[in-house]
Amino acid sequence: MNIFLKKNKKLGIVLGIYFIICIAILYFLNNLPDTVVNYIIHKSIAKNQAWKKHVFKEDALYVITTGTGEPMPDINRSEAQTIVVAGNQVLVFDVGPGSTHKLEISPINIGTTSALFMTHYHSDHIGGLGEFMLKRWANGSSQKPLPIFGPEGLEEVVNGFEAAYQLDKGYRIAVHGEKMLPLKGFGAESHSFDLGTDLKSKKTIYTKNGVEVIAFNVNHLPVYPAVGYRVHYKGRSVVITGDTKYTESLIEHSQNADLLISEALNRKFASMLADAAKNTNTNISKIANDIEKYHISPQEVAQLANKANIQQVVITHILPPVPTKLLERPFLKEARQFFKGNIYMAHDGTLITLHLNSRKITIKELLN
Ligand SMILES: [Zn+2]
Ligand SMILES: [Zn+2]
Repeated sequence: MNIFLKKNKKLGIVLGIYFIICIAILYFLNNLPDTVVNYIIHKSIAKNQAWKKHVFKEDALYVITTGTGEPMPDINRSEAQTIVVAGNQVLVFDVGPGSTHKLEISPINIGTTSALFMTHYHSDHIGGLGEFMLKRWANGSSQKPLPIFGPEGLEEVVNGFEAAYQLDKGYRIAVHGEKMLPLKGFGAESHSFDLGTDLKSKKTIYTKNGVEVIAFNVNHLPVYPAVGYRVHYKGRSVVITGDTKYTESLIEHSQNADLLISEALNRKFASMLADAAKNTNTNISKIANDIEKYHISPQEVAQLANKANIQQVVITHILPPVPTKLLERPFLKEARQFFKGNIYMAHDGTLITLHLNSRKITIKELLN
């Protein structure tokens, strides 16, 4: 009996001490001294700056996927965006909803964006344009509007977003002043181009400081026009397909590129989703069936890469969303049979470095 009481007393003391410690920690967290808050804020900014310098430490062709999703909601993926960094050029391809946030937490300074390139005008590629233009202006104190390149229809899209952000432009200037936010730097300067209807059609649309960007037609019908891009820098090259079906012309446009950034729709996964969503009160089932018509499958991407002699394939614009990482390998399983090189499924924040003067390519996750 005595032993039992002694043990209970000991336990009571331990629980009491534990309770007092918990209260003390809670009190400390609620009343964090300003010196500690100040230290944490300074440290996070310094860490971020050091990280940015470290990521782009060598002259190379860098690609970052900052939006690897599509219109269907995916908690882990923003909608379409790929960034190419080469020398002093920061080139952004597409601007899907949510992608601007991912860009801002990546090692890119949005204010330094050199140009934006649009592949087509589906909402998952343009929905973040207003936010992007505003942030680039606000963070970069831009003296000139953002140069945007895209196929016909560009002016209509850009003018619409500029009109929608007129009120906010005024609010921002009222708070921060015109010195920080020059009026003449707001918005965008559209450079649209016409490649006609021939799928073989291509054109150099941007050359600056050793970087060349070539636009080429893709088949995303009934969406027309729709283009992909090929970027060259100091002997290395990357092809960004945009949204497309498999076509023979894609093989030509991608020929001998080091890196292929391709969209992909897994048809088996899409029909499973269509089936699973049949009895929900949504249009998901019909949408999952309809979209098979104008996208390329992972197997077709692999076949294309094989025929085009691609070194590295990176899959983005993941259709349909994969609800868990467990499904990433099955998504690409059949594709691997058709391509001897490496196929990688991108995430928001995947950095691909194409080193110069060699065939070396390295892949690293920055945000996962
Ligand atoms: Zn899309
Ligand atoms: Zn599309």
